[in-house]
Amino acid sequence: MEEIMTNRLDRSFYQYQEEFEEAALRTLRSGWYIMGKELEAFEEEYAAWIGSKYCVGVGNGLDALTLACRAIGLKEGDEVIVQGNTFIASVLAISNTGAVPVFAEPDEYYGIEADSVRGAITDKTKAVMVVHLYGQPVELEEIVKICREYDLRLIEDCAQSHGAKYYGRMSGTFGDIGCFSFYPSKNIGAFGDAGAIVTDNEEYRDRIKMLRNYGSKVRYQNEETGINSRLDEIQAALLRVRLRHAKEMYEERLAIAGRYREEVKNEKIELPLRRPQADHVYHQFVIRCKERDELAAFLKERGISTIIHYPIPPHLSKAYEYLGYKKGDLPKTEAWSEEVLSIPMYNGMTKEEQDRVIEALNAF
Ligand SMILES: *Cc1c(COP(=O)(O)O)cnc(C)c1O
Repeated sequence: MEEIMTNRLDRSFYQYQEEFEEAALRTLRSGWYIMGKELEAFEEEYAAWIGSKYCVGVGNGLDALTLACRAIGLKEGDEVIVQGNTFIASVLAISNTGAVPVFAEPDEYYGIEADSVRGAITDKTKAVMVVHLYGQPVELEEIVKICREYDLRLIEDCAQSHGAKYYGRMSGTFGDIGCFSFYPSKNIGAFGDAGAIVTDNEEYRDRIKMLRNYGSKVRYQNEETGINSRLDEIQAALLRVRLRHAKEMYEERLAIAGRYREEVKNEKIELPLRRPQADHVYHQFVIRCKERDELAAFLKERGISTIIHYPIPPHLSKAYEYLGYKKGDLPKTEAWSEEVLSIPMYNGMTKEEQDRVIEALNAF
């Protein structure tokens, strides 16, 4: 029996093969590969899809987050509150600017919890970074309120939440800057590294446009110490194809998630909760199980791969030892890192593959 992997990037390529090949060839033949018409068109189309005034394409998701942190003016010693249960990149973006990441706990939907944010605010706090983890928006209403009350900037890490809505409005439009990754496995994925920011703020847009291109607006005139982080023409052209099909790709994931919800019936397995105000886009379908490692081994024996997002929370990673956190400081974050398991979920997943996953989960 063929192994069922957690993701199959080839499947969604073949779903739209002709369009992808046409876009790549068109770009190759154009003779223009960086900062051209494809990028401009993608930025316009992405901003319109999200419902933001501006979009700026960059090299990857981490750069989107890092440039957002720089654009809002973070500097050495500033504090930024971020949830403990996230991918390391959210935290790296903060520490890249010299600011100090301060960790808060998640709620039962895996999003940053408002009370935990309130408890972490000090007179050095400058911003909050929320992560719409697994594809479900955090409790934005409360978080936006807190940011207004304490005059904090809000950055949204939307690397897993393309198209996810909160009260019908897209994630990425609630904060000062929304940051996206188009890493190939994301819900809107490129065929290499790519990322973008969205914002309604002209000043932030201009600053990030400058920073992504060596800190210059006019060639060879450098106003700031920028970086090289550009979204290239081929990736932009390929992403435009994805964007055209975003709705049906989302609906396909929703249908798979729907089957998991209906058909997985096992007392040992907890299905993900849905926040009533939010639309989940199921970047990952994350279950919880007290016997997580046994379950993963059981599935593996049946030819089904799983993955843990994430086994070591950033505050316990070696990289952030210097912050001085120890085991027990974030009990919820830590407990969940021992129980969560992401099961196969991807565009182009066959009905038979879904059946096999469901049967194996029920047999555990
Ligand atoms: C993927 C991801 C990133 C980083 O994106 P890259 O394009 O790989 O740099 C940041 N934050 C989260 C939550 C992610 O899942």
